[in-house]
Amino acid sequence: MDYLRLRHGKLARWVRGGISRWLAGPNAWPLVFRAPSAQTDFPHGVSSNLYVHLPFCKQLCPHCPYNRVLMRSDLVNAYGRALEREVAGYLRRPGVPTIRTLYFGGGTPSQTPKLIEQVVTMVRSKLAFAAEIGVEVHPADASSALLARLREAGVNRISLGVESLRDDLLRKLARRYDPQSALEAIRAARSVAFSCVDVNLIIGMPGQRAEDSATDAERCLALGADQVSAYPLFHFAHSSFGRNGRVQDSGERERLRALKAVSRVCRAAGLQRTSVWSFTRTGLSPYSTVTHEDYVGFGAGAGSKVGGVFWFNTFSVPEYAGSMVVHPALVMQAGERLRRAHWLYWAIYGTHIEASRYQALFGRSLKRDFGLLLTGLRAAGLARSDAAGWTITETGAIWVHRVQSLFSLSHIDNLWQHCRNHPWPREVVLV
Ligand code: SF4
Repeated sequence: MDYLRLRHGKLARWVRGGISRWLAGPNAWPLVFRAPSAQTDFPHGVSSNLYVHLPFCKQLCPHCPYNRVLMRSDLVNAYGRALEREVAGYLRRPGVPTIRTLYFGGGTPSQTPKLIEQVVTMVRSKLAFAAEIGVEVHPADASSALLARLREAGVNRISLGVESLRDDLLRKLARRYDPQSALEAIRAARSVAFSCVDVNLIIGMPGQRAEDSATDAERCLALGADQVSAYPLFHFAHSSFGRNGRVQDSGERERLRALKAVSRVCRAAGLQRTSVWSFTRTGLSPYSTVTHEDYVGFGAGAGSKVGGVFWFNTFSVPEYAGSMVVHPALVMQAGERLRRAHWLYWAIYGTHIEASRYQALFGRSLKRDFGLLLTGLRAAGLARSDAAGWTITETGAIWVHRVQSLFSLSHIDNLWQHCRNHPWPREVVLV
């Protein structure tokens, strides 16, 4: 299926607009991010959840849609200094709360452990006793020495970008390790005392069958992975895979079969679904950077969301590294209805929608605000309800995944594409 064409086509825009206006109000469409016009427009929100973007990679994989650049030591040094300025500026804000979660994503954070140590040291006095400190680790970097160094710095969760355990598929993705090394990386991670080892797998690659994905998940779980996250091969126009128009993949049917197969394997191993794409050992908080109700991001392209304010740093790594004072490139103030709809979107992605949490956050009844939608989902077998709220069913998770692929990922696609081409955009309109 040609996701790019469908996602950016008129029909998809019309459906997105209709649903957005219905759920989030007439002013929620289109979404407009603007450059702050003066220092007084800079958001100064604080949060218990921090994210740090470390964009350096040893090589650039063709499928990758993320904000990343090739490793260059002078740029890394300049980036480290800008990061120091940005984090120090944040810590001077009034009311900075205790940090409950601190995640490092990229890029390949495991390529720049010094920057991880630098940030953890800077925020150490603000860390909660049991703060989650998570780092994305490339399997080729996962030596015992590097993992021990991260643990020593205070990192207690890692996410390994294994992607596949088929040699030919790893080569297609230009990954710099073979299946045996990827398995060795899981073993090495398990031998260090991390409280959560997440393994990322990609599903839906050309020539990849659902059975391959199931076997990959089984092998990772057999080695003690605490979480399996099975992401579809992303279809983003700005990745090398997407640039030539139609993206090659395994096809819609095979991709959905893979999602179901991974789900079966994970459930049989006692893991529970914690998002549309992830399964986590029962009782463990999921490894996740996107589902927090609010967060503040640091680094090039990092996003933040506090209250109703969303903002992004410049995506340009050299521009970020050269900033004497880091200030946001784009800001959007969301209205109350959009905030509520945004919360619901991520709760649906997380597959559990807690009515009491909604009430506590917005002082309103979930049923009153979104009862029609949720009842419709229940009638269609996509959700079930109980006293605590709503849970997305297995069929529902497949549909959320479908809707995301066809409709909602377009926002990320458009925003990222625009911001990669324009370091300081005046405005980005998302339709
Ligand atoms: S997939 Fe990971 S290692 Fe490859 S370019 Fe993207 S961020 Fe870098």
